[in-house]
Amino acid sequence: MPTLDQTHDPSLRSWVESANEPSCDFPIQNLPFGVFQRKDAKEQPRIGVAIGDCVLDVAGCIEAGLLDGIDAESACVLSASSLNQFMAKGRRTWSTVRHALNALLQVGNTRLCDDAQRRKQLLVPMHDVECLLPAQIGDYTDFYASIHHARNVGSMFRPDNPLLPNYKNLPVGYHGRASSIVPSGALIRRPMGQTKADDADLPTFGPCRLLDYELELGFFVGPGNVLGQRIPMNEARDQIFGMCILNDWSARDIQKWEYQPLGPFNAKNFATTISPWVVTMDALEPFRVPSTPHGQDDPPVLEYLQPIDEMAYDITVEAYICSAQMRESGTAPMLISRGTFTDMYWTIAQMLVHHSSTGCNMNSGDLLASGTISGTSEDSRGCLLERTWRGQNPITLPDSTQRKFLADGDEVIMKAFCERDGAVRIGFGECRGIIQPAQ
Ligand code: MN
Repeated sequence: MPTLDQTHDPSLRSWVESANEPSCDFPIQNLPFGVFQRKDAKEQPRIGVAIGDCVLDVAGCIEAGLLDGIDAESACVLSASSLNQFMAKGRRTWSTVRHALNALLQVGNTRLCDDAQRRKQLLVPMHDVECLLPAQIGDYTDFYASIHHARNVGSMFRPDNPLLPNYKNLPVGYHGRASSIVPSGALIRRPMGQTKADDADLPTFGPCRLLDYELELGFFVGPGNVLGQRIPMNEARDQIFGMCILNDWSARDIQKWEYQPLGPFNAKNFATTISPWVVTMDALEPFRVPSTPHGQDDPPVLEYLQPIDEMAYDITVEAYICSAQMRESGTAPMLISRGTFTDMYWTIAQMLVHHSSTGCNMNSGDLLASGTISGTSEDSRGCLLERTWRGQNPITLPDSTQRKFLADGDEVIMKAFCERDGAVRIGFGECRGIIQPAQ
């Protein structure tokens, strides 16, 4: 059962009016962390919290004595230019800071609300800031935890044997590239690469022709473990700071030619986009639910991977496409797929525990991603490869053009949110990227 406290109280309202709109991603019950810079201001990046359509300058609030119960060490890590040190502090600190922010932003707390000058300084409209990466991401790993995605993709390449033998025994993953992770809004250059047509004798080098997105969620490691010591399942929850939306851009033609025997390489390393606001596990607590049970005939999960807690999260994820022509004519982006995170075969706790089971050290700010989130229905398939079934069933956009894969100028927009009776809806914001022509 979820453990709720007063920060989740659905009756709470903020004096930041925009936070109380029913469709708002960032009500007072959410308070996701990010790193921002005021546009046109020469300042170091700062840690902020999203509230309504604004960003609250967290370090500024601490300097002004507005947050209660924050010790000197926590104040110090929150004045940094990335969230790594705060992530390293652990759950008690995260929770203390969340409570202090929740108190400051509540209706009835006048300390910042009634101080017009300070409010102007510390509460910045979202459109006046640039959001940066929330952490310095030392390592990035991508999993493959949706059995529906694995089965769909597997069946295209191996119709008789879609799931490889290990799939139901361990969360499959690959080590991704941390250096090319970019925040929402960064332009995405269509990669060049080596591909080979089935009937060709030799490969060629040129622009990727089958460019795709993958709709995923990522999660950030909290305190982490030292090399040689694994993270046991009963510590997994305390080791995860929060989650973001992640687009694992994928060059399918490059992938097809290169992926055997060692897995994805250049097909994935040119860019990964993440949403800038990290929704904490505390904020997600009302939406923690039991995972979808494994099939009756599925093999037993080995003891080190056995869940001891409900560790699925009821998060709805969506992918939209907006072509250049649609943007010019003011046409709304088209919803391509909508899935749910409860459809995954493996939980984020199992991914983390398996990753560290060798003694591999997970560091604060490391990013782990779920893999493409696909469900059983066609409109819940989280990438174009599946959605158009390798291009066999193209999608017609509102501008009457067709898509098998992404075209130059296309913008992919991903959203995620949590809704349930008795809780206030929270959202993740957006994860956007526009495809630029190859160079
Ligand atoms: Mn992926």
